[in-house]
Amino acid sequence: MPLACLASAMVSGNTRVAGVIGQPVRHSMSPAIHNAAYRELGLDWLYVAFEVAPRNLASALRSVTALGLGGLSVTMPHKDHVAILVDEPSEAVRALGACNTVVPLPDGGLAGHNTDGDGLLDSLRHDEIDVAGRRIVLLGAGGAGRSIAEAFGRSDAGELVVINRDIDKAVTAAKLASGIGRVGTTEDLADADIIVNATSVGMGSSGAFPFDPALLGPKQVVVDLIYEPLITPLLHAATERGCRTADGLGMLVFQAARQFRLFAGQEAPIATMLAAARSALQSSN
Ligand code: NAP
Repeated sequence: MPLACLASAMVSGNTRVAGVIGQPVRHSMSPAIHNAAYRELGLDWLYVAFEVAPRNLASALRSVTALGLGGLSVTMPHKDHVAILVDEPSEAVRALGACNTVVPLPDGGLAGHNTDGDGLLDSLRHDEIDVAGRRIVLLGAGGAGRSIAEAFGRSDAGELVVINRDIDKAVTAAKLASGIGRVGTTEDLADADIIVNATSVGMGSSGAFPFDPALLGPKQVVVDLIYEPLITPLLHAATERGCRTADGLGMLVFQAARQFRLFAGQEAPIATMLAAARSALQSSN
């Protein structure tokens, strides 16, 4: 039986509903990841995708309380606007001005969280990639890059060097990494312990590299946030040069795992969520 049928077979009058809002959102892998976790733990929960136009965002948020939803993930283009609309934004949401998770509060208000940057750090921890005292070079200062910079700023990493095409955005991201951030150039790559690609360069079938991979050395760890393709040209070249690598599925799953805990109040079944993400990715290709 297809997974979607299995999920709907479990729906009852008590089923709690959570979901993701975005536009477009039909391609989202979040339903596959969250529903797999509910099934694994036998929870009477269902996670769906809601296509929400910007003009309907405020009423969509009000429906969290009105309909008794268990929580909402928030994706493009709503993250910035939701950060303003929630009643209790977390420290990360306030710093970033971006919110990817909405959780109903007992008083009828809404809490806002951002699990993106911490999701990456959780995935590195899971892969036993230690960031303590390490020099991190972050390429990219868009939404993902900023959330990562903010999370590294709360970690025990030694230094965070931000490289970005638009220098003003690099300055903003470096400031978010409270005390350990600075703006750099590709010359900083040689001394990096961990290199994180948070640019969109290498997505799809472009075959493009965010920097010349000949600059990589074998002791370095290379992380690419892109998960389509899972093995980007950068990760392929990094492996050939003897680097340790991590793909974008880790961040995707661990940011969802944090949302799962916030919504359902239970530990997330990580292995199940990783397997669901991998399978959703394969069936989308
Ligand atoms: P975004 O806000 O649009 O930022 C895009 C970033 O890529 C900016 O830093 C931009 O630089 C840079 N960039 C784009 N084209 C470039 C080019 N030709 N040369 C150099 N730099 C270029 O996007 P985002 O949300 O941060 O996402 C960035 C990447 O992370 C995407 O590939 C996305 O799929 C991935 N991502 C993965 C996860 C995950 O869970 N694994 C989560 C979020 C995002 P400028 O500022 O100079 O334009």
